[in-house]
Amino acid sequence: MPDYPSFTLSTIGIIHSCYKEKFGIPRQPGLVTESTARLELIPPYNRLDTLEGLSNFSHIWVQFIFHACLTEKWKAKVRPPRLGGKEKLGVFSTRATHRPNPIGLSVIKIGRIYQEDKKVFIDLYGADLLDGTPVLDIKPYLPYADSIPNSKGGFAPTPTQTKNVLFSAEAKSQCEHYENLHNREITTLIKQIIEQDPRPSYLSEQIDREHGITLWDVNIKWCARNDHLEILRIEYK
Ligand code: SAM
Repeated sequence: MPDYPSFTLSTIGIIHSCYKEKFGIPRQPGLVTESTARLELIPPYNRLDTLEGLSNFSHIWVQFIFHACLTEKWKAKVRPPRLGGKEKLGVFSTRATHRPNPIGLSVIKIGRIYQEDKKVFIDLYGADLLDGTPVLDIKPYLPYADSIPNSKGGFAPTPTQTKNVLFSAEAKSQCEHYENLHNREITTLIKQIIEQDPRPSYLSEQIDREHGITLWDVNIKWCARNDHLEILRIEYK
């Protein structure tokens, strides 16, 4: 075997996000617009001058490590959830997390760029990133070059059809209480996450089975009914 180059990359920042576990994170960015996160630049990159000019852009590309998959091996062929877990495609034809190099790529809306206690942050909206995700690089999104209007979307040409979500009376009042306490729009956040139906395909036919998704400091209990998805209650961790 010839000697091909390999590289060592360093983390430039860490994601702080509302998603505390993989289950429930949307499958791409921009689907759950209510989700909030922030990127913290770490030393020696925690300097505002590295971000000078970035506030003139609305979105950035974030290259990151799928750090919660590092112990799992990559596979040549994977089953995209979008195909109901029934069909296999080549790993490089998908956005699967189990890749030879576990690198993810998301285009994310940015907000405030600021310094707080000698730390440098960028607010992010609609990210599909787990809390604690290590970031390798960020670059501005360039609409003229990065948006290709008549491109082909393969097995995922459009977003999936969202499902109807209903809140039980208990969940509704718990969300209102949470919102008053924390000043966070958790009702819309929960609705946007659950309407994507995050269940893996092998559970997608199961009705009335309870699922839990951890957001911030709470676990959202929900289940599928015949014609909708229902938020049952929220439990503090
Ligand atoms: N937009 C990125 C891409 O295309 O490379 C990620 C797509 S991947 C299909 C999205 C999934 O990655 C999420 O649903 C979540 O389960 C998973 N994920 C997000 N952050 C992760 C992390 N740090 N480690 C492992 N899995 C992660």
